[in-house]
Parts: sequence; structure tokens; C-alpha cells
Amino acid sequence: MFFIFGLRTKVDRSGVAQRVCRNCGNHAAQVISRRSTKFTLFFVPLIPIRTSYVQQCTFCGAQYDISRAEADRLLVG
Ligand SMILES: [Zn+2]
Repeated sequence: MFFIFGLRTKVDRSGVAQRVCRNCGNHAAQVISRRSTKFTLFFVPLIPIRTSYVQQCTFCGAQYDISRAEADRLLVG
């Protein structure tokens, strides 16, 4: 008997927010994405390992990690 297991990362585009970019200082659309990594067994995602949020500036292309609270605030406001 053997097991096939691994990790799978899925990136979901959560939304877009208008905000001042931390990198270029321009007020531009920021794309918020959620990156979730799951432990898989026989290619079936089973256990969430970690979830992180990434903000990408559409003006300069800079990408940086943000906290979940920050992502929520951006998507609501
Ligand atoms: Zn920027």
C-alpha cells in the first residue's frame, strides 16, 4: 500500500481595490489575491496548511504580502 501526497497552492483573485501603493505612491487599482496551500492526498486537497493574501499594484506591478485583516478591509472599503 502506498500514498501519494503533496501540497497544492491555489490562487484566487479576490477583488480589486483603489488604494495608494506602498511601492510607487500612486493611487491605483490594487488586485487582491488569496493564496491557499493545502495538503493533498491522492490529489485531493484535504487539510489547509496556510492562507496568505497578496496585493499587486496595477500601476507599477509591485507585489507584496498583506494580512488577512488588511485584505478584508480593502475589499470592503
Ligand atoms: Zn505601485
